[in-house]
Amino acid sequence: MLSTRLPAAWRGLSPRRWPSQCAVWRGWGAGRVCADCASRFAPAVPRRERCALPVQAGIAVCSACIAAPPDFDAASARVDDGFPWDRLIAAFKFHGALELAPAFAEAIVEALRVVARTPRPKDG
Ligand SMILES: [Zn+2]
Ligand SMILES: [Zn+2]
Repeated sequence: MLSTRLPAAWRGLSPRRWPSQCAVWRGWGAGRVCADCASRFAPAVPRRERCALPVQAGIAVCSACIAAPPDFDAASARVDDGFPWDRLIAAFKFHGALELAPAFAEAIVEALRVVARTPRPKDG
Protein backbone atom coordinates (compact mmCIF):
# COMPACT_ATOMS: atom_id res chain seq x y z
CA MET A 1 0.00 0.00 0.00
CA LEU A 2 1.35 3.40 -1.01
CA SER A 3 0.73 5.17 2.29
CA THR A 4 2.87 2.70 4.25
CA ARG A 5 5.93 3.54 2.11
CA LEU A 6 5.65 7.30 2.50
CA PRO A 7 7.34 9.18 5.34
CA ALA A 8 4.83 9.84 8.12
CA ALA A 9 4.87 13.60 7.52
CA TRP A 10 3.81 13.10 3.87
CA ARG A 11 0.88 10.76 4.50
CA GLY A 12 -2.46 12.35 3.75
CA LEU A 13 -0.91 15.17 1.72
CA SER A 14 -1.93 15.81 -1.84
CA PRO A 15 0.89 15.07 -4.32
CA ARG A 16 0.90 18.82 -5.09
CA ARG A 17 2.06 19.43 -1.51
CA TRP A 18 4.96 16.99 -1.58
CA PRO A 19 8.41 18.53 -1.63
CA SER A 20 9.58 19.17 -5.17
CA GLN A 21 12.67 20.66 -6.75
CA CYS A 22 11.96 24.16 -8.04
CA ALA A 23 12.26 24.37 -11.83
CA VAL A 24 13.80 27.84 -11.58
CA TRP A 25 16.57 27.68 -8.96
CA ARG A 26 16.54 23.96 -8.11
CA GLY A 27 15.83 24.57 -4.42
CA TRP A 28 13.34 22.40 -2.57
CA GLY A 29 9.83 23.55 -1.84
CA ALA A 30 6.19 22.82 -2.58
CA GLY A 31 5.42 22.66 -6.30
CA ARG A 32 7.62 22.97 -9.37
CA VAL A 33 7.87 26.74 -8.95
CA CYS A 34 8.61 27.53 -5.31
CA ALA A 35 6.94 30.38 -3.45
CA ASP A 36 10.18 32.42 -3.40
CA CYS A 37 10.57 32.22 -7.18
CA ALA A 38 6.87 32.90 -7.79
CA SER A 39 7.13 35.97 -5.58
CA ARG A 40 10.36 37.16 -7.21
CA PHE A 41 9.58 36.40 -10.87
CA ALA A 42 5.80 36.72 -10.96
CA PRO A 43 4.86 39.80 -8.97
CA ALA A 44 1.23 40.79 -9.25
CA VAL A 45 1.26 43.96 -11.33
CA PRO A 46 -1.53 45.93 -12.99
CA ARG A 47 -1.85 45.09 -16.67
CA ARG A 48 -3.49 46.82 -19.58
CA GLU A 49 -6.91 45.48 -20.48
CA ARG A 50 -6.29 45.16 -24.17
CA CYS A 51 -2.75 43.84 -24.51
CA ALA A 52 -1.98 42.69 -20.93
CA LEU A 53 1.34 44.52 -20.79
CA PRO A 54 2.34 45.84 -17.34
CA VAL A 55 1.18 49.37 -16.61
CA GLN A 56 0.73 51.73 -13.69
CA ALA A 57 -2.52 51.35 -11.79
CA GLY A 58 -5.33 53.44 -13.24
CA ILE A 59 -4.28 53.18 -16.89
CA ALA A 60 -6.57 50.70 -18.63
CA VAL A 61 -5.53 50.90 -22.28
CA CYS A 62 -2.11 51.84 -23.59
CA SER A 63 -1.51 54.43 -26.29
CA ALA A 64 -0.39 51.77 -28.77
CA CYS A 65 -3.72 49.94 -28.40
CA ILE A 66 -5.64 53.21 -28.77
CA ALA A 67 -3.68 54.20 -31.89
CA ALA A 68 -3.81 50.75 -33.50
CA PRO A 69 -6.31 48.50 -31.69
CA PRO A 70 -5.41 44.82 -31.88
CA ASP A 71 -7.84 42.34 -33.46
CA PHE A 72 -8.89 41.08 -30.02
CA ASP A 73 -10.84 42.82 -27.25
CA ALA A 74 -8.81 41.72 -24.24
CA ALA A 75 -5.85 39.66 -23.12
CA SER A 76 -4.77 38.25 -19.76
CA ALA A 77 -1.27 37.51 -18.56
CA ARG A 78 0.18 36.60 -15.19
CA VAL A 79 3.86 36.92 -16.13
CA ASP A 80 5.95 38.67 -18.74
CA ASP A 81 7.60 36.81 -21.58
CA GLY A 82 11.09 36.58 -20.12
CA PHE A 83 13.27 34.77 -17.59
CA PRO A 84 12.45 32.29 -16.17
CA TRP A 85 9.04 31.80 -17.80
CA ASP A 86 10.30 31.68 -21.38
CA ARG A 87 12.55 28.75 -20.48
CA LEU A 88 9.87 26.95 -18.46
CA ILE A 89 7.19 27.38 -21.13
CA ALA A 90 9.55 26.01 -23.79
CA ALA A 91 10.32 23.03 -21.52
CA PHE A 92 6.59 22.41 -21.09
CA LYS A 93 5.62 22.83 -24.73
CA PHE A 94 8.54 21.20 -26.49
CA HIS A 95 10.36 18.95 -24.00
CA GLY A 96 7.61 17.14 -22.14
CA ALA A 97 7.94 18.95 -18.79
CA LEU A 98 4.30 18.22 -18.02
CA GLU A 99 4.93 18.58 -14.27
CA LEU A 100 4.89 22.34 -14.87
CA ALA A 101 1.21 22.25 -15.91
CA PRO A 102 -0.19 22.89 -12.39
CA ALA A 103 2.02 25.97 -11.93
CA PHE A 104 0.93 27.36 -15.30
CA ALA A 105 -2.73 26.53 -14.66
CA GLU A 106 -2.60 28.33 -11.30
CA ALA A 107 -1.01 31.36 -12.98
CA ILE A 108 -3.73 31.48 -15.65
CA VAL A 109 -6.48 31.19 -13.05
CA GLU A 110 -4.89 33.97 -10.98
CA ALA A 111 -4.62 36.23 -14.04
CA LEU A 112 -8.30 35.69 -14.84
CA ARG A 113 -9.26 36.39 -11.21
CA VAL A 114 -7.43 39.72 -11.39
CA VAL A 115 -9.33 40.60 -14.58
CA ALA A 116 -12.64 39.60 -12.97
CA ARG A 117 -11.92 41.82 -9.93
CA THR A 118 -10.91 44.83 -12.03
CA PRO A 119 -13.75 47.32 -12.47
CA ARG A 120 -14.40 48.06 -16.12
CA PRO A 121 -15.93 51.17 -17.64
CA LYS A 122 -19.56 50.71 -18.62
CA ASP A 123 -20.27 50.17 -22.29
CA GLY A 124 -22.06 52.80 -24.25
ZN1 LIG B 1 12.35 28.47 -6.76
ZN1 LIG C 1 -1.81 47.84 -25.18
